[in-house]
Amino acid sequence: MYGYVMVRYGDLSLKGRNKNIFKNTLNNQLRFKLSELDVKIEFQHDLIYIELGNTLAEEVIKVLETIAGFSSYSKVVKTVYDFDKISENALAIIKQETKERVTTFKIETKRADKSVPLTSLEITQQLSKKILSQVNNLLVDVHHPEMTLYIEVRKDATYLYVNRIPAIGGFPVSMGGKAMVLLSGGIDSPVSAFLAMKKGLEVECIHFESTPLTSIESAQKVIDLTEKLAKFAPRYKIKLHMVPFRNLHEQLMLHVNETYTITVMRRMMYRIATELAIKNNCLAIVSGDSIGQVASQTLESMNVIQVVTNHLIIRPLATYDKMEIVKIAEKIDTLAISIKPFSDCCTVYVPKNPIIKPKIAFAEKNEAQFDYLAFIEEAVANTKTVIIDANSHLDILSKGLVVSECI
Ligand code: ATP
Ligand code: MG
Repeated sequence: MYGYVMVRYGDLSLKGRNKNIFKNTLNNQLRFKLSELDVKIEFQHDLIYIELGNTLAEEVIKVLETIAGFSSYSKVVKTVYDFDKISENALAIIKQETKERVTTFKIETKRADKSVPLTSLEITQQLSKKILSQVNNLLVDVHHPEMTLYIEVRKDATYLYVNRIPAIGGFPVSMGGKAMVLLSGGIDSPVSAFLAMKKGLEVECIHFESTPLTSIESAQKVIDLTEKLAKFAPRYKIKLHMVPFRNLHEQLMLHVNETYTITVMRRMMYRIATELAIKNNCLAIVSGDSIGQVASQTLESMNVIQVVTNHLIIRPLATYDKMEIVKIAEKIDTLAISIKPFSDCCTVYVPKNPIIKPKIAFAEKNEAQFDYLAFIEEAVANTKTVIIDANSHLDILSKGLVVSECI
């Protein structure tokens, strides 16, 4: 029945040139992601019509749900302006959408073409009457209806659809520049990466891996998570930098006071992340920190950690509760991977009493116990970069016990 999907642009309140960048970036991404499907795309001022050809609306919607920047979409029926045709289609839509359930509804009519015989109000009233006389599970509720039937009379045709389904929102990925995401195998950092992408940032990911001190499965987890995130990238691809962290990790265990191991470990991670961010033209570092979640995420800890870098640090989840984070992780399909129980470098040798209010001077004193700059240099030099593609699975489990030998 549905011949079109109508898509609405997101925040078009952007000014001047930005508005065009927004639309052009988004249009290109849509064209690329729909290129495999038999559809025709028609761009208009504030919305896009996708003509379905042999494609199901659901296939198009699956693609739309991977593109940030759209505010909403609807499945649409297109017909000529003729009252009988409009009511025939309206009845078919209502019957399909209600599936015999009792539902409250209202009709909203908009007339871009004022030359047609009936006014918007007359169309709404006459159509409501006709629908109510033929469907008996409907009640009118003009204030809070469960279902709104929209009738849009335009010059070329009349469009009918039910409800506006919210899309991802935000800005198209890459419009806002590039950021480096610190990606652990946990629940939070993939959600952070998604939120950064949703705000228009292109992302690359860094993972600090300590194989064989940690299992190869934990590295595979990070690859699988990146694969899920790559779905939202404009070309379904994300760069993942695997930093060999084992040697530094061992030094920390040897030389750093146990209560400070996580603090110093994080400082090392940010030093390395900053170098890699600069090398790869990333203007910010994104982490999954959430205030107060663990000892290393108190304000005192975050301050002592971030002083090692001048790079901008973005913490999309700083103010989120775990439940809110989990909800997003479910939506972007990363949760099931994140909760697999493989240890990473932060869960191996977790100190019994990590410091909650660390001091910069004490962290520095611990770091002076070994030549950490040499280890950082070594880690950066031996970092392996791999391009993760949402459509082609990379399996390193069968390849060995150390990441650097697998990619
Ligand atoms: P997540 O936050 O992903 O659930 P987590 O809760 O275990 O993991 P922490 O260990 O407290 O988080 O780490 C806080 C943040 O530091 C992570 O969200 C992530 O951005 C970064 N991080 C931690 N460990 C690593 C790692 N091995 N590689 C890359 N980034 C990491
Ligand atoms: Mg966390």
